[in-house]
Amino acid sequence: MSLTEDILSQLPGEILPGLRRADELLAALRADNIPIPGVVQENSEPLGNVEWDAVICGGTLGILIAAALAYRGMQVALLERGILRGREQEWNISRHELRVFIELGLLNQAELENAIATDYNPARVAFHEGTEIWVEDVLNIGVNPVYLLETLKQKFLAAGGKLFENTPFQSAVVHPDGVIVNNQFKTRLLLDAMGHFSLISQQARNGKKPDALCLVVGTCATGFPENRTGDLLLSNTSLQNQCQYFWEAFPAQDGRTTYMFTYMDASPQRLNLEALFEDYLRLMPDYQGVKLNQLEIKRALFGFFPSYRQSPLQTPWHRILPVGDSSGSQSPLSFGGFGAMVRHLHRLTVGIDEALQADELSAKALSLLQPYQPNLTVTWLFQKAMSVSGNQQIHPQQINQLLSAVFVEMQKLGEPVLKPFLQDVIQFSGLSKTLVKTGLLHPLEVIKVVPQVGLFALLDWTIHYSNLGIYSALSSFSPVLEPWIQKMSTSQQYFWHRWIDSWKYGSGGDYS
Ligand SMILES: Cc1cc2nc3c(=O)[nH]c(=O)nc-3n(C[C@H](O)[C@H](O)[C@H](O)COP(=O)(O)OP(=O)(O)OC[C@H]3O[C@@H](n4cnc5c(N)ncnc54)[C@H](O)[C@@H]3O)c2cc1C
Repeated sequence: MSLTEDILSQLPGEILPGLRRADELLAALRADNIPIPGVVQENSEPLGNVEWDAVICGGTLGILIAAALAYRGMQVALLERGILRGREQEWNISRHELRVFIELGLLNQAELENAIATDYNPARVAFHEGTEIWVEDVLNIGVNPVYLLETLKQKFLAAGGKLFENTPFQSAVVHPDGVIVNNQFKTRLLLDAMGHFSLISQQARNGKKPDALCLVVGTCATGFPENRTGDLLLSNTSLQNQCQYFWEAFPAQDGRTTYMFTYMDASPQRLNLEALFEDYLRLMPDYQGVKLNQLEIKRALFGFFPSYRQSPLQTPWHRILPVGDSSGSQSPLSFGGFGAMVRHLHRLTVGIDEALQADELSAKALSLLQPYQPNLTVTWLFQKAMSVSGNQQIHPQQINQLLSAVFVEMQKLGEPVLKPFLQDVIQFSGLSKTLVKTGLLHPLEVIKVVPQVGLFALLDWTIHYSNLGIYSALSSFSPVLEPWIQKMSTSQQYFWHRWIDSWKYGSGGDYS
């Protein structure tokens, strides 16, 4: 019996079968064996009477935008296939990002404090036989999803929103004046918040295989030596199984959370979640200085995150907008989809409100709500530099050495460069300074990356890097446009505001 079978079979619930089901889905995805759904259709006849401004399918992150839209007076229905309830395991995020809940009127200060289950400092970034850096106030807050979702649900209902639980999304027919969902709900706009495996986003992607994957496994357990610090990105091994393993660790309400994650391409030969779990259980005691039998494991966690170069997802249909994980709007480096949604919540709320007011609900108009963001696209190269393809030969320490070199220079450049990067916000000036310093002071580490990532990827990256510079310039210039935009029609205002948002968010200008 493997360590994974032994330990997971002792946990309550169907954890081991759940892990194996996730592996079956992963294998089907890698083998390109997932049928293309046909859940969205189009019809040229008008619907006539449309009851809802927005129908949102998928409750986990869907309730965030549902509550925000209902609070602004829109008629909103939320369809959840099960019961709307947050998971037990905290979501980690940085405190300043949570301000948006207060700004949008969704939580008051006391409710926000109640939603914070844990708060620790400092956190470490460290690489095997290399740099060790400590930072404060980055992803150091653990939000309690059960409390947050329940509180937002109450706000949503109080604002007139309607929640339909045990109501799975099955079909959508797009008409010129609305969408009919499940042959029942007639809405002006359909928001898809059904996660990475949403049938709508699978159909929109036309069954395309992901370009890369991030696999994550972990546990929340008690029995560790007392430790009120965390790890944001840590490696303590060289390459194993053609993977560079990274760790994250956080003090949690129920003990200590430790995650091991790794990036890879989507080829079928790569290791699966069960094999990664086995390595996690083998390596974790050494990492945390504890014996496995000293731990009481409260829960096991696992998941895989497909990422697509064509992200965020823009659907081919009018009146349908993906949000949350289904939109692919988080960077391929991060499995912080809650954080990504929170970061874009204000932008999405105002943008959807303006789209409804201006009746700008065409596919082209909605694509500006999930726009191209060069600061997301540049991270593809970093993801490639932190992974190895199946048959590639590189020095087992190459990734650690590169990351050590980059982070030591970022640390010298100071917090304004280091902190946004660690929160998944890439900015042109910080990135440029880091590249110049790393290139000049660690040329060998940088040159070795070229064959690892490939010349094409590097050339492609330079385009997005240049766009990042252009977006930064446009974003800093955009405030002068506002008085001029105010004089335009609501439709023109909608487009200009979306372009300004895309410059701002696409260049990391939203980070404060
Ligand atoms: C191990 C692990 C740790 C993580 N840690 C963090 C973290 O620390 N910080 C962070 O920011 N993020 C973290 N994440 C990511 C975060 O959990 C996800 O980004 C978030 O759950 C995405 O929410 P979602 O609603 O977009 O998709 P999902 O979580 O996939 O939820 C989809 C929702 O849609 C519903 N649904 C699905 N199909 C249908 C249907 N047909 N009809 C109606 N409803 C449907 C589901 O029931 C569910 O409510 C972690 C993820 C994992 C796996």
